[in-house]
Amino acid sequence: MDAERYEKYRLKKEEEFESICKRCGECCGALDDPCRNLVRLDDGAYFCRDYANRFGPQMTVSGNTFTCVPIREHISKSTLRQNCAYRGSKDLTHVSDEKRRDL
Ligand code: SF4
Ligand code: SF4
Repeated sequence: MDAERYEKYRLKKEEEFESICKRCGECCGALDDPCRNLVRLDDGAYFCRDYANRFGPQMTVSGNTFTCVPIREHISKSTLRQNCAYRGSKDLTHVSDEKRRDL
């Protein structure tokens, strides 16, 4: 496979991986003590108001501090939330190391 075709394949696989997320917000505390960056949309889905800068120290609405980490870290450490759509998902082989750090 040439470089251009591989890059297209990789991007397609990345999109497929990211589309697994159902935007339930559970990993951001939607069911208990939400992160201060978590926003609920009218349709019930959640998004992060500072997605580009999300990794690192964060604070919940009640003032607790925690570290926001890539979802791949939760997958590799088996610390995904109860209802996370990534449970059982281990196929990250198609995603570059650099991109994996961002998922
Ligand atoms: S900073 Fe992290 S934990 Fe907070 S809403 Fe954004 S993605 Fe979720
Ligand atoms: S818990 Fe899983 S499915 Fe829900 S928003 Fe977080 S990554 Fe997406």
